[in-house]
Amino acid sequence: MAGALRVNPGIAEISAYQGGKGGDDFAGPVYKLSSNESPLGASPDARAAYAALADHLETYPDGSAEELRDAIATRYGLNPANIVCGAGSDEILALLGKAYLAPGTEALYSAHGFLMYKIIANSCGASPVTAPEVDLTTDVDAMLAAVTPKTRVVFLANPNNPTGTYIPVGELKRLHAGLPSDVLLVIDAAYAEYVRANDYEAGIELVSSYENVVMTRTFSKIYGLAGLRVGWAYCPAAVAGVLNRVRGPFNVTAPALAAAAAAMRDGDFLDKARDHNETWRPWLEAALRDLGFEVSPSFGNFVLARFAESGGGRANAAEMYLAKRGIFVRNMTGYGLPHALRITVGSEAANHAVVAGLAGFVQETP
Ligand SMILES: *Cc1c(COP(=O)(O)O)cnc(C)c1O
Repeated sequence: MAGALRVNPGIAEISAYQGGKGGDDFAGPVYKLSSNESPLGASPDARAAYAALADHLETYPDGSAEELRDAIATRYGLNPANIVCGAGSDEILALLGKAYLAPGTEALYSAHGFLMYKIIANSCGASPVTAPEVDLTTDVDAMLAAVTPKTRVVFLANPNNPTGTYIPVGELKRLHAGLPSDVLLVIDAAYAEYVRANDYEAGIELVSSYENVVMTRTFSKIYGLAGLRVGWAYCPAAVAGVLNRVRGPFNVTAPALAAAAAAMRDGDFLDKARDHNETWRPWLEAALRDLGFEVSPSFGNFVLARFAESGGGRANAAEMYLAKRGIFVRNMTGYGLPHALRITVGSEAANHAVVAGLAGFVQETP
């Protein structure tokens, strides 16, 4: 009665997530601008807390992540009981999928929404459904029109990666108000700390007011702790209860918990990282526009530079041209934006290098 292994439905449809490329074997300076990592690294306090754990690696982590949840709760004025920590926000997003998606259900997100949403939907056997965007921005009307009786989860990255665009709090509330109460709205606010706009809210108020909204956050971007894998969710009590049942009992490592708690307490370092981004993102956007790229205003720590042609030929050539010079940017073919490159706001040297590199490309291959 032998047969081939039968993998669960949906898994075969997944194209495995490809991280941003770097150049370990490159001779000369390498500028990795392909994964939205922080050019400032991590807070010195976080690095010290991480290092201190080296002497206690035999000890299991605190499975309740109490110190970290308390640090987050203090900073944002939240009840720590409503916070759940994960091995990156990716883990939390996947756990939400595991808990609320199943074959026969649908997960909805916008056309150029973060790639993990599709992978998560497929891995749960659910159908990924996308709604068209307007000007590379989530269109609330289109999202609501795409809701069906099978919709269980709506994923919204706000601001979105890779487009860099966001929807203001009024639109966020309108999206929530239009959803049936049995649909979970997952607000992925991975770039919230970078946003300076009066009409932006990461989602705390919505989560506090309703049973069907979750906000996820990460330590991978502005806190510069991507290597440690730490994220968190602010959830209604019932959703926190669900996440605490489906997560691994020790899902975040002890050094990661300690470093993230120290990072959360270091407000000065956070301000520095934000100021750096606020200085260099507009610089990068302007320089890229000067070179002829289309660049919509970004609210994250990256910019999406688009070639005028719709095919991917020039973007691919530019990516390779830069890679030969030790500069790594993100190919956007997997996002259905083959004519675009996503470029992280890097160090001063990296930003100058990528602009000089693209200037060379445009000049040599007009
Ligand atoms: C980077 C990113 C994340 C994932 O962050 P981790 O916490 O490192 O898993 C989640 N959502 C979006 C939109 C991101 O860009």
